[in-house]
Amino acid sequence: MATRLTLVGQGEKAQRVHDLVKAPANTPESRRRQASWDASRPATVYTTPEMLPDGTPCSAATVILRTKGCHWWWSSGCTFCGYFNDTRDDVTEADLQAQWDWSAAKLNGFADVQMVKVYTSGSLLEDREIPVGFQERVLRECAERGLHLIVESRTEQLTQAKLAWATSINADFTVAIGLEAYDDEVLRFHVNKGFSVRSYDRAVANLKEAGLRVKAYLMFKPPFMSEADALDHIVDWIAAIAEDADEISINPMNIQGGTVIDRLHRARQYRPPWLWSLVEMIRRAHPLVHPEGGVNGDADQISRLIVHPTAGGRVRGSHNCGSCDADVVAAIERYAVSGDLLEFDGLSCACEARWAADLDLERALPAPLGLSPSRRAPAAERLRAP
Ligand code: SF4
Ligand SMILES: [Zn+2]
Repeated sequence: MATRLTLVGQGEKAQRVHDLVKAPANTPESRRRQASWDASRPATVYTTPEMLPDGTPCSAATVILRTKGCHWWWSSGCTFCGYFNDTRDDVTEADLQAQWDWSAAKLNGFADVQMVKVYTSGSLLEDREIPVGFQERVLRECAERGLHLIVESRTEQLTQAKLAWATSINADFTVAIGLEAYDDEVLRFHVNKGFSVRSYDRAVANLKEAGLRVKAYLMFKPPFMSEADALDHIVDWIAAIAEDADEISINPMNIQGGTVIDRLHRARQYRPPWLWSLVEMIRRAHPLVHPEGGVNGDADQISRLIVHPTAGGRVRGSHNCGSCDADVVAAIERYAVSGDLLEFDGLSCACEARWAADLDLERALPAPLGLSPSRRAPAAERLRAP
């Protein structure tokens, strides 16, 4: 039945806008999409070249499981997170076991990899999302096969008790935390993260005490922030966490469907980051992770800085003018492996001056949403877009 607003004077109880707005996860289109997933198959399984904790090059499997998603999303959710698009809310433990069997079979029983990343569109160690029996199986099988395991988690699951249980099964794995920003104001008003810097610090202390490795994700350019602010802030955040995080992975914002940032982007109130900003961030942050000017694997390494511009060069990902994008993305990807600033030598394009001028303007004017216009698709394609 269609819902209509009540009007003053009708004598009816007023309806709240809150009740009229459908969460993007509940639109008929989203429900259809979720129902189309096969719960007994993982979302994706693939292998990539990676690096073991001691710096040895290796082959890593990434297993993205089809799950019920993230409990924080069920009640609220981060402003940029589109993981709900990939979930089904009726996934059972038997489904997860079948997904794991399928992944192992596809990858020859994990015989050719040395590292496994198990991602769940949420937190693997959260009992409301992932049945404990399945958590245990992943931890145990990776330990028994000598595979270095990487899992993702929010902070509130990483209690001393939970980690004592996990390390009794697998004593050496890495926990990746989507910290996004080391700043309570940004966490609350820009990201809607639902945890604080203090909660992150506590989780990291517990992980260190349990002898586990920490990987932190930081978000480059959350919503409601100009490019210049994003650049200045993220360098401060890297400085704040470098000592305790074994790896810092920077996620430059990419626009995922049905999210708050998607709305802002469509309304032209948000431009995904310039690739030049990422290069500048790396130049500024490199001395923080390599104080002696070394490269990855050198003795001066405090933390490993990784940047992967998802959808780099596309309008919904980090982009420059369109003609230099592929070269700049390639240099950033090479830096993530080598940790060598020489990767950026010789890169240049006329759009760099435009980027620098935009940043100067943003620093001179109070422009919380930023001034840089997006590079847009051709007009005919824009008109066809939903
Ligand atoms: S905590 Fe992670 S999975 Fe959950 S809504 Fe935020 S970004 Fe998405
Ligand atoms: Zn360019």
